[in-house]
Amino acid sequence: SWHVTGIDDLPIRDELRGQSPYGAPQLDVPVRLNTNENPYPLPEPLVQRITERVREAARNLNRYPDREAVELRTELAKYLTRSAGHEVGTANVWAANGSNEVLQQLLQTFGGPGRTAIGFEPSYSMHGLIARGTGTAWISGPRGDDFAIDVEASVAAIAGHRPHVVFITSPNNPTGTAVGAGTVRALYEAAQAARPSLVIVDEAYGEFSHHPSLLPLIEGRPNLVVSRTMSKAFGAAGLRLGYLAADPAVVDAVQLVRLPYHLSSVTQATALAALEYTDTLLGYVEQLKAERDRLVTELRAIGCEVSDSDANFVQFGRFEDSHTAWQAILDRGVLVRDNGVPGWLRVSAGTPAENDAFLEAVRAMKKEDR
Ligand code: PMP
Repeated sequence: SWHVTGIDDLPIRDELRGQSPYGAPQLDVPVRLNTNENPYPLPEPLVQRITERVREAARNLNRYPDREAVELRTELAKYLTRSAGHEVGTANVWAANGSNEVLQQLLQTFGGPGRTAIGFEPSYSMHGLIARGTGTAWISGPRGDDFAIDVEASVAAIAGHRPHVVFITSPNNPTGTAVGAGTVRALYEAAQAARPSLVIVDEAYGEFSHHPSLLPLIEGRPNLVVSRTMSKAFGAAGLRLGYLAADPAVVDAVQLVRLPYHLSSVTQATALAALEYTDTLLGYVEQLKAERDRLVTELRAIGCEVSDSDANFVQFGRFEDSHTAWQAILDRGVLVRDNGVPGWLRVSAGTPAENDAFLEAVRAMKKEDR
């Protein structure tokens, strides 16, 4: 391949100059616990069902997909009604290619040039990156020493900055901490008093929480959105299917920016097949929750500091130099994540055997340290 120029020689947007793309290392190591994937492959009967539904879809690939994805949104609404204990209908739900695309559509609609978005960091770094990609100025809000959201400090930050979009990630990535309904209510009130602005609750890891979903809070709060994904609990990261629940007006608003036919027929067919297997897939979630709790307990027993986790991953430390610790664990065949939070690393809950391998690697590292 030929190369006559570099990125910075191209007439790209000024704010992209010198930036790096999002990306966790995709290394070929025996145990990969670095991207919060579900370690369980889809069960074979579901693979068969996907094949059937995709074959049907293939017969119509000369046609554009259902632009409104009505059947899929209806099934997602049923799932949410059942699992979050709050009745939502098709009109409350919107779907896109991963929750990243959902968030991008929300920022294209409610953020953009001359507007601002705030998140409470450390949190999911893509919130800031999607903000930048949509021309929305990013504000890094505070978090408490224990990585919980400090309500008073957050309300003050919202009152001071008057952002157009507020992100609340619960359970939070990479720390694992969840927030209660009271925190969301307080931040929502502050955001409405300041502007009003759109409040996005990113519940990508909602199914793994010890606490119920925050979804019922959308009732009577037209500027509140709950974002979800099939990448984690449904074990379908490769599918790229995210969705949101909100007032139907929000769903109408994102139609203004979504690309026509953004969700392929193949994607819709696959997601519908996976939703038929909800109960089976949520059975794996229960196993992962138990393994997550075991990781917390055993890491503490080894002498690590561990943040309470409501997600399918655990934040552990503290290390004088997290990169050195990351490398020491990798040298023992286990890939975890260095999210750039000084002193801390993050491990995704894997299968029991993978988690054993990880715990053994940490024990060995600790022993060598002494
Ligand atoms: N939100 C959070 C908090 C995440 O951690 C992730 C994935 N790492 C996403 C959203 C995006 O996931 P997806 O696009 O696969 O739905």
